[in-house]
Amino acid sequence: MTAQDLAVFNVAVVGAGPSGFYAAGALLRRCPWAEISLIERTPAPYGLVRYGVAPDHPSLKLVTTLYEKIGRDPRVTFFGNTQLWRDLTISEVLATHHAVILATGTPQDRTLGVGDQGVTGLYRASQIVGWYNSDPSHSNFTPRFGAGRVCVFGHGNVAADIARILLAPIERLSGTDISDRALTALQHKPVRDLYLIGRRGPGATRFTPPVIAELVDIPGVEVVIDDPDEQGDDDTQTEISSNVAKDVLEILRGAAQRPRRSLDRRLRIMFRSRPKVIRNDNGLVCVELARDRRSGSDASSILCDAVITATGFGLVGPLWNSLQVIDGALSNRSGQVVDRHGHPISGLYTVGWAARGASGTIGTCRSDAERLVQLILGSASLSTRSATGGHSALTRKLQKNGHHVINFEHWLQIDRVERELGAAAGRPRAKISTAAQMLEAARTFASEN
Ligand SMILES: Cc1cc2nc3c(=O)[nH]c(=O)nc-3n(C[C@H](O)[C@H](O)[C@H](O)COP(=O)(O)OP(=O)(O)OC[C@H]3O[C@@H](n4cnc5c(N)ncnc54)[C@H](O)[C@@H]3O)c2cc1C
Repeated sequence: MTAQDLAVFNVAVVGAGPSGFYAAGALLRRCPWAEISLIERTPAPYGLVRYGVAPDHPSLKLVTTLYEKIGRDPRVTFFGNTQLWRDLTISEVLATHHAVILATGTPQDRTLGVGDQGVTGLYRASQIVGWYNSDPSHSNFTPRFGAGRVCVFGHGNVAADIARILLAPIERLSGTDISDRALTALQHKPVRDLYLIGRRGPGATRFTPPVIAELVDIPGVEVVIDDPDEQGDDDTQTEISSNVAKDVLEILRGAAQRPRRSLDRRLRIMFRSRPKVIRNDNGLVCVELARDRRSGSDASSILCDAVITATGFGLVGPLWNSLQVIDGALSNRSGQVVDRHGHPISGLYTVGWAARGASGTIGTCRSDAERLVQLILGSASLSTRSATGGHSALTRKLQKNGHHVINFEHWLQIDRVERELGAAAGRPRAKISTAAQMLEAARTFASEN
């Protein structure tokens, strides 16, 4: 007996980011009698496509057209503004669904591990990205860039996105869905000197070629790159692990060889540099670095207004009784969640960044979700799980607690309001930036209909 033998296959998907939507879409396609409860912490769906992808990359957000189609499907019930472990327990969700898929992403930032807690002016990537993307989880956060000298730690695409947004000409940003707060701040207090600092050499960065090519080509920004071959060509060559890394290195070499021009704003890309100490110094932030050289390591320091760490994301456990987190991801075997003894937990699955850790693109989430759904539909044990109620049981439970659920109709209303507000300002949308305002927009809609 598999899911194919059930009259209704109740599945809960927790997390309405790309992985959650791709998993829901694959289930609807392969198992037309599936009914899906899509549970999302924030009032708005789409996860990091809405709150991560940079505002100046609107074409990447077109995938939401597909997600919207899935969300509108009558077999999907969207529970927005509903957080697992806060509004519902995992036992409640497991008891009411044949399968539960955790697609919650990896919301926590990795730290630099140099005892930088409590340093004023030190920010995490999620805060900065949330600030410019109007993420309600960061609606009270305002970074201060002072005279505009900023260090960004990390040599991956998130660090590059942050650097590009902070250095972009304001007219490039003003036609995007960037938050008003970030736009105003960057207009009045621009970032002028940005140091992009990485631990390893230029052959071992985690940038992708289009992202680094765009970064070294921002109009009005002078680019200064540590000599990519400073350690000697051999060291750099041995670092290269893929064709992607090779292409990135070529772009860096090309940019390093360009004639220097003195411009108002500067981007300096530094390799093989590790933070030793980050501390406050007379209202500024002092970053002490150890830089690996052929002859050993030398020390240098940078006095700046702010430091941003963009060195990856992960999950921090424990989440629920026996669930465990390993290397920033939920412990699982091909998507089947296992307990701390390595035993599969019946009916519990995971996908996307929650399952693999914070790596891979939106496209990777799609292939991961397809594989997981195949595994679930082939599982012989699911149909024997007693699962009663599905989405109706969750609705009853949440109503009993007086919880305000945002359903997909409410979200479409919020979406309409944002687009209208944006159009009035010549922008694709003006995102509503607090959960309370989103709930208000949804309430207005509910009372009018
Ligand atoms: C800053 C940044 C920029 C990026 N830019 C690009 C890019 O340009 N191109 C690209 O291809 N990829 C990009 N990525 C990667 C891409 O965003 C990820 O591959 C993808 O979003 C991962 O999808 P996910 O569904 O696994 O996780 P997420 O997108 O994080 O979605 C998880 C969802 O789960 C919800 N959730 C979390 N906990 C709970 C809970 N307890 N209860 C209910 N819901 C919960 C969250 O609110 C969220 O909506 C970027 C990532 C970041 C961080």
